[in-house]
Amino acid sequence: MNIIEIITKKKNKLELTYEELEFAVTGFINKEIKDYQMSALLMAIVINGMSLEETYSLTRIMINSGSVNEVSNFVDKHSTGGVGDKTTLVLIPLVASCGVDVAKMSGRGLGHTGGTIDKLEAIEGYRVKLSKEEFNEQIDSIGCAVISQTEDIAVADKYIYALRDVTGTTESIPLIASSIMSKKIASGAKSIVIDLKVGDGALMKTKEDALELSRYMIELGKRYDRCVKCVLTDMSEPLGYAIGNGLEVVEALDTLKGVGPTDLEKLVLKLGSLMVSLGKNISEEEALIEIKEALDSKRAYNKFLEMVKRQDGNIENINISKNKLEIRSQKEGALNSIDAYNLGVIAKKLGAGRETKEDLIDYGVGIVLNKKVGDLVFEGELLATIYYNKSDLEIEDVVDCFEIKFDTPDKKQLIIETV
Ligand code: URA
Repeated sequence: MNIIEIITKKKNKLELTYEELEFAVTGFINKEIKDYQMSALLMAIVINGMSLEETYSLTRIMINSGSVNEVSNFVDKHSTGGVGDKTTLVLIPLVASCGVDVAKMSGRGLGHTGGTIDKLEAIEGYRVKLSKEEFNEQIDSIGCAVISQTEDIAVADKYIYALRDVTGTTESIPLIASSIMSKKIASGAKSIVIDLKVGDGALMKTKEDALELSRYMIELGKRYDRCVKCVLTDMSEPLGYAIGNGLEVVEALDTLKGVGPTDLEKLVLKLGSLMVSLGKNISEEEALIEIKEALDSKRAYNKFLEMVKRQDGNIENINISKNKLEIRSQKEGALNSIDAYNLGVIAKKLGAGRETKEDLIDYGVGIVLNKKVGDLVFEGELLATIYYNKSDLEIEDVVDCFEIKFDTPDKKQLIIETV
């Protein structure tokens, strides 16, 4: 077999066999296939797609590239990634404080979207790596832990994910489906709730694509006897107000204290009640009552503090840059749209994400919005604050992300559909 023939076959829109995909993936892990060859293959897949059978093959190869945990009764959650998506930070302690254990392995940023692990590392000292014994012991004693994907789970995904992040090959239904499902299946979760973001700021730009991605993930889950629920949620504007690692941790804490943004709270209530209903085998309505009580009583907030402390984090020291720049409106009207994708790209350029695989994150930088879609804006009013450390800021690029018009817009529904 030959990698050039495999790339050419996909370039010519032909279906790849299990053996061909395995040759490419294992060769890449063993460094026999170069980054540039794998990038070319990934780009051909992004452009020409993969059938469900090819995607199943790739998922199996990725699962078998690492260790596979026995299926156990825990509920896992995954987001396909968005701008300002700090949902996991709120959801995990919330669900755990309702008595459903959550052993969460999370990822880093991908493309213009952020990742939970980068966010948690904004907390001084937080250990994203725990030994298997420490991880299990923490779940047994406090009911939750959030760590980075362990080295041994879906090893191939780790390599491919890092390459996709820096080669413009993130937005692909088969690649996303196999990346997510290989990790979830290998980690042993019986029930999997997927927050499938839709809109300009998400990897899936349209509802049709999001439904197709759900179909792939549900089908892959079925083949491994897992229950997969996909909740399609809007990502046409950033979630909440904060974008950037440390800034998002602060907003997650506010939400756990009951003073967070309405959209984030609404999303957390929906996903949380779904997870608790699956974990406890109760109705979503009953689960919602438990979730609300855990938030109101601050049990969920205290659970987050407990988890951070157990993982050696110092919650008093969250990395936030001291350099701030206010962006003010040059006109008056109603805010019709906020370009989530470009704000994600700007945050990444500020240092909140990576441009190359070797880049180090600047945890303290980002953007905090002062307005959401539908809000009225006066001339000179604050639109956003930029937290920065580099000096090459393109202020006009930020201003251009806010579309202010005379007419008031129709506000998009946050929770679009559950499949
Ligand atoms: N999340 C993942 O784990 N993988 C993707 O490809 C996209 C989102």
